[in-house]
Amino acid sequence: AELPQRLNEIPRRWAAATPDAVAVSEGGVTWTWHELAATVDEGAALLRRLDVRPGDRVMIVGENCTAQIALIFALAQCDAWVVNVNARLSPREIDVIREHSGARRVIYTVAVSPDAAAHAARHEAARTTLARFGEIAIGALNESCTPEPVEPDGASQVAALIYTTGTTGHPKGVMLTHRNLLFIAAVSSRLRQLRPQDCVYGVLPISHVYGLASVMLGTLYAGAALHVVPRYSPQALIDALQDDGITVLQGVPAMYARLLEFARGKWTPEKTRLRFIYAGGSPLDPTLKDEVEQFFGQTLHNGYGMTESSPTISQTRIDAPRRDTSVGQVIPGIEIRVVDKDGADVPGGEPGELWVRGPNVMKGYYHEPELTADTMRPGGWLNTGDVVRRDAGGALFVVGRTKELIIRSGFNVYPVEVEAALNSHPAVTQSAVVGREVGEGNEEVVAFVELDPTRSVSIEDLQGYLAGQLSPYKCPSEIVVMQAMPAAATGKILKGQLKQQAQDMYRARAQDK
Ligand code: ATP
Ligand code: MG
Repeated sequence: AELPQRLNEIPRRWAAATPDAVAVSEGGVTWTWHELAATVDEGAALLRRLDVRPGDRVMIVGENCTAQIALIFALAQCDAWVVNVNARLSPREIDVIREHSGARRVIYTVAVSPDAAAHAARHEAARTTLARFGEIAIGALNESCTPEPVEPDGASQVAALIYTTGTTGHPKGVMLTHRNLLFIAAVSSRLRQLRPQDCVYGVLPISHVYGLASVMLGTLYAGAALHVVPRYSPQALIDALQDDGITVLQGVPAMYARLLEFARGKWTPEKTRLRFIYAGGSPLDPTLKDEVEQFFGQTLHNGYGMTESSPTISQTRIDAPRRDTSVGQVIPGIEIRVVDKDGADVPGGEPGELWVRGPNVMKGYYHEPELTADTMRPGGWLNTGDVVRRDAGGALFVVGRTKELIIRSGFNVYPVEVEAALNSHPAVTQSAVVGREVGEGNEEVVAFVELDPTRSVSIEDLQGYLAGQLSPYKCPSEIVVMQAMPAAATGKILKGQLKQQAQDMYRARAQDK
């Protein structure tokens, strides 16, 4: 079938084709396609009553739930932009995004999220229950919100304003159009070989683009069922794999690490329908990949992308499984370049900065013309800010982020390599490596680790272990043990915060002297 132009065509199409098949399920409640489409209509009527106009931004604060899915399609139907925000953000972070996006309304999906309920209470949002929706809370009208122009061509209209994780600084508002999101939905559904009989585990936050475009839209685009999960827990995942016929699992590496930690010796995935497992969003550690593959007895696929590219740029292919941690081949329909700092193509096999062009590239950062100009290159190229390498067969490897490159005594250190060495130690469950400035343009390598409480290991042991694995200049000057890493709702480690902490520790020590 032809690619739909608008997100809201998805429920409409499948409601016509297979009205009685399951579209979404959550906590034992299922909606058929007919019910999903009817709920979307109910949502669109509600939005009009709430005075939401074409070109308005509407923020949804919540965690994955069916009401959120219906609202996303309803907003598309009303030509409004959805601003999905995870309820696990702090009140301050949510306020910043509300201000920045100029949202006309905030809707809290309170039914499954105590955090969303708390945010709603703080803003005295009015609770209301709709026939199919269930309970939501609606914030006051923001009179000063002005609508953005509506594109005459529906596909280039902005559908979603999505804030980046903020790994390296402040979250940026990325404008993604209907075309951007539907292109990735189509590619993602094709590369996963999705069929209507599939049931996809929907635990990645829909508030982020990986959960929205690749998982939610990719699944529904194919007419498959989405099993919606508000918050990750290994036990709930195991239950769903056993009882709910999940065939596809998409996650971030940290999710798989927690599953193995939890399930080892307790449960084996023998009697499941699982046929495709996939990780993306942050570097996949080789040790973890091996362990996950042994556990499940199948290939753990890997994919790479960023919010600005809706998000997928490359992914490994079902018919070409890989033993290494390549992020796979570039997806069909987009172009890439690998360049040096002057923007000239580097020879094959050499590392360079990755540029991307295609239907998945964002419209720009909202209200950030300078930042947009800084990120986009002439000819419609998006500079990813990631350093990659391509092998002879065209498979990509992510070397690291340009911003995270540590320059120590004139040598380049990419955190990913040091993290991989740390993670290969049996006592290390998670690690994050950052650089800190120590004067005269020189940097030190600082590692943060989470340790397995059932094993005993000292900092000296770890240092000694690393010395056996890495060149001396790559070995951390300091290793800091953390109870828990600062993380985003997706499970991604917020390295900006760790970098700050590393710098503060250094400054405090310098003052003591
Ligand atoms: P911010 O831009 O606000 O600092 P962020 O870049 O972490 O945050 P996202 O858009 O969520 O926000 O993440 C995209 C980045 O994540 C990519 O640029 C890349 O550095 C990293 N990444 C994503 N997938 C992978 C992967 N499979 N392997 C290695 N790195 C990955
Ligand atoms: Mg980024």
